[in-house]
Amino acid sequence: MTVQTVLDFLFQLAPKDYAMSWDNVGHLLGRREAPVTRVLVALDTTPDVAKEATALGCQLIVTHHPVIFNPIRHLTDADPMTRTALHLLEQGIAVISMHTNLDCVPGGVTDELARLLDLERVEILPNGAQPGVIRVGEVAPTTLPEFAALVKARLGCEGLRCTDGGKPVRRVAMCGGAGMDFIEQVMRSGCDTFVTADVRYHEFQEVQIRGLNLIDAGHFQTENPICTLLRGKLAAAFPEMEVLLSKHGDCIRFF
Ligand SMILES: [Zn+2]
Repeated sequence: MTVQTVLDFLFQLAPKDYAMSWDNVGHLLGRREAPVTRVLVALDTTPDVAKEATALGCQLIVTHHPVIFNPIRHLTDADPMTRTALHLLEQGIAVISMHTNLDCVPGGVTDELARLLDLERVEILPNGAQPGVIRVGEVAPTTLPEFAALVKARLGCEGLRCTDGGKPVRRVAMCGGAGMDFIEQVMRSGCDTFVTADVRYHEFQEVQIRGLNLIDAGHFQTENPICTLLRGKLAAAFPEMEVLLSKHGDCIRFF
């Protein structure tokens, strides 16, 4: 196996064309033909994850968030991001990132979130050429506090933020990570509840006035389940390769 073999497999799983136009996905760091026997799967390429991959003797890190997103003008040890990239190159570790293509693909980030939260009769809200990142489905009718407790337990959140739109929970929309760009689409879909992350105060306020329950369950918590799923898929596809899951968690703590 090489970085190329793993890249081909991942693009079969989450086609490149499904990524948003502003995104940066695929093989973003290191040598394409480098042999791979050990892979680390993580949500982000943080300095801690880079150290972890080095200590574990991995040749490849597979992440959800792109290791390089904004154009870089130097590759030196002058700032943390390029320092991490430089460290990985020096250690011969490549990085592949599957971002918005993995968010929207059937069986990807948001579908995994919907599965974990027992969403039934799940539909994909379309979004132009891409499959769309929002999933809408039904749950057994319940109250907001009960549903929020389920979200918290299933996603392993230390805490979560919600606003009560004054409706029982039955028809639920979901979007892993920052989903508020899609709020109008969600409002039109006839949902009573939306589960996403990175919600601002005024967004909570407006949505509450419009009568929608809104749950911010955390960016890490709504997306990280994909890492376990990816680990399983890579291990099944490449039995001779060792696929490990990063032990690093959310950078946000509740006190
Ligand atoms: Zn994200």
